[in-house]
Amino acid sequence: MKTEKIVEVLSAYRKELAGVGIGSCQLENYDEIPEEEVALRHITWMCEQAIEFAEAGRLEKANRWLGFIQGTLWLTGRHAVSSMREHNRPRCPHCHGPEDECNDLRGNRLYCKNTDMCIRNNNAE
Ligand SMILES: [Zn+2]
Repeated sequence: MKTEKIVEVLSAYRKELAGVGIGSCQLENYDEIPEEEVALRHITWMCEQAIEFAEAGRLEKANRWLGFIQGTLWLTGRHAVSSMREHNRPRCPHCHGPEDECNDLRGNRLYCKNTDMCIRNNNAE
């Protein structure tokens, strides 16, 4: 996952948790098996940290943390695996659908089939 995408997903989870009154707090004792609310506060803190890792170019670590966060969201009944798979899919900036469904490669450029607008130059990466 690219920096922009991982920051988008992590920010959405942080906002979602804040929206239901979950504050950010790192687990005090890593030997502890926490209650649900303590676990949710910890993953809110992890979202903030993982955003910083991603923005600093530490994508592998940010992705690993995202996996832990999503596992916790699943086990605490917040998102199904299928929903989180959708969250992780790149979205088209023009039609906002899954990019792998609307993209159309013409030469080196990727176009959105729905809007006929250029998504990106595929050589840029
Ligand atoms: Zn599109």
